[in-house]
Amino acid sequence: MSNPGDLKEGMENEEVVSRNFIENIIDQDIEEGTYQKIVTRFPPEPNGYLHIGHAKSIILNAGLANQYGGEFHLRFDDTNPMKEKTEFVESIMEDVKWICGDLDKDNVFFASDYFDQMYACAIKLIKKGKAFVCDLSAEQMREYRGTLTEPGKDSPYRNRSIEENLDLFERMRAGEFEDGAKVLRAKIDMASPNMNMRDPILYRVARMEHHNTGNEWCIYPMYDFAHPIEDAIEGVSHSICTLEFEDHRPLYDWVVRELEFENPPKQIEFAKLYLTNVVTGKRYIKKLVEDEIVDGWDDPRLVSIAALRRRGFTPESIRSFMELSGVSKAQSSSDYAMLEYCIREDLKMKRPRMMAVLDPVKLVITNYPENEIEYLDVSNNQENEEMGTRKVPFGKVLYIDREDFMIEPPKKYFRLYPGNEVRLMNAYFVTCTDYVTDEEGNVTEVHCTYDPETKSGSGFTGRKVKGTIQWVCAETAEQVEVRLYENIVDEEKGVYNEDGSINVNPDSLKILKNCYVEPALAEAKPMDSFQFVRQGYFCVDSKDTTEDHLVFNRIVSLKSSYRPK
Ligand code: ATP
Ligand code: MG
Repeated sequence: MSNPGDLKEGMENEEVVSRNFIENIIDQDIEEGTYQKIVTRFPPEPNGYLHIGHAKSIILNAGLANQYGGEFHLRFDDTNPMKEKTEFVESIMEDVKWICGDLDKDNVFFASDYFDQMYACAIKLIKKGKAFVCDLSAEQMREYRGTLTEPGKDSPYRNRSIEENLDLFERMRAGEFEDGAKVLRAKIDMASPNMNMRDPILYRVARMEHHNTGNEWCIYPMYDFAHPIEDAIEGVSHSICTLEFEDHRPLYDWVVRELEFENPPKQIEFAKLYLTNVVTGKRYIKKLVEDEIVDGWDDPRLVSIAALRRRGFTPESIRSFMELSGVSKAQSSSDYAMLEYCIREDLKMKRPRMMAVLDPVKLVITNYPENEIEYLDVSNNQENEEMGTRKVPFGKVLYIDREDFMIEPPKKYFRLYPGNEVRLMNAYFVTCTDYVTDEEGNVTEVHCTYDPETKSGSGFTGRKVKGTIQWVCAETAEQVEVRLYENIVDEEKGVYNEDGSINVNPDSLKILKNCYVEPALAEAKPMDSFQFVRQGYFCVDSKDTTEDHLVFNRIVSLKSSYRPK
């Protein structure tokens, strides 16, 4: 299992671990002396919450920096104030810290802090005759741009003098022109087969208030111009991004070359992480939130990092999932079951195993003394004895799961039915003698007798039983709410409806209000997680739990369809 230390130890394990294609590139760069120091970054735009795809990018970039003894930067790519908000800056910071462990404050950057330098870069390009102010309207610009099969046409403003361009660009900044009236464009090649190279826009006039710079600027740089400059200013060596930027790489290289940055960064693209049966992509998550189909960005059915954390996933489980899913250039989908496997593996040895009854029915032990409660010694985790033991109360009236009793059982049903004997986990053998039903035939009570000789831990070997069920002592039990989750969408049934809306799985959330757990769990705090034996792993909900109302989220059930290769 991975832990933060593993990343640091990576260097020593070099020989045994197979290298991904990015590591191969970095190895070669180091060998050839291209870079003195490996610097990577994660550059989110603060326009939404981060999701598991971003976690992949964070873990990849932070991991490489660590592995090569370099530096990892969190940089907010806040150059487009349209959709950006401080709320998102804060949530992103929290999420990155959660995944990476603490972040060095000196390694947190904002692209908007470089607005002056970007402006100076634009001036430099104008002075080199590599950029010009263009008055074409957006529509005209589209016409001039050509198509994939036809070259574009030069803008009639392309040959303005350097002096005129300098003057106009300064006046753009001074606010003399309407929004959209003028843009600054790179002078590259309108006949390039790569559309991104056809004199792309570098700056536009747009009066928007920025969360960091307020109303200081009325011109803002475009992503393709700003991003390479941000990387170069920070001394990034490898600018790792996802495949959709592959076609932008020639422009990235053009910008750093024309601006004559020493030792410019190198862009490397990898395939995005996709997961089956979940909704990734900020746009779709946003829609589910806005349409109130889910309970906010951290609804445990989502795979935003906030949601995964609330559901009870651990950073370790997410890191080991990323290790298993690998890094490549080939687009593919990872199986959600693999993520579930990783969280089960992570929690298996670390979390206490408690008894909980989610769909209760009373079990009365007719030969057990009235009003007596005895305390049984129970191991906290049978696979990890270091976790010690606890006392669990036992009495005449218990709750068991409705599923664990049947009046007329099918073959191979080894749990309770009239006449059958089972083990009450950590306690005694009981034999079902009778049951009570209400008018509708629902079982309301199961009656048993117990055999005092069979106490767990007493060394009893007289006879064996095939079934073991969990229980909770009714008198001391804590009543709690439990929320069971399933995939939010089912890919086999189709992720989208005909009208483009998301086809949400109606069973994605099931709320059980009347569950009982051992009294020890009454002390549980938000984010604490446990195994409920025979049921799965559960985490105390951090949003809806109150002093006197515990809410548990099921992180994952115990059954698995995934086996690691
Ligand atoms: P989305 O597509 O979900 O809206 P985005 O790409 O617009 O996300 P950014 O804030 O621009 O979000 O992303 C920050 C970084 O995260 C980028 O470098 C981007 O390539 C990377 N990233 C985004 N989605 C994924 C993903 N699914 N897998 C890996 N990396 C991703
Ligand atoms: Mg983006």
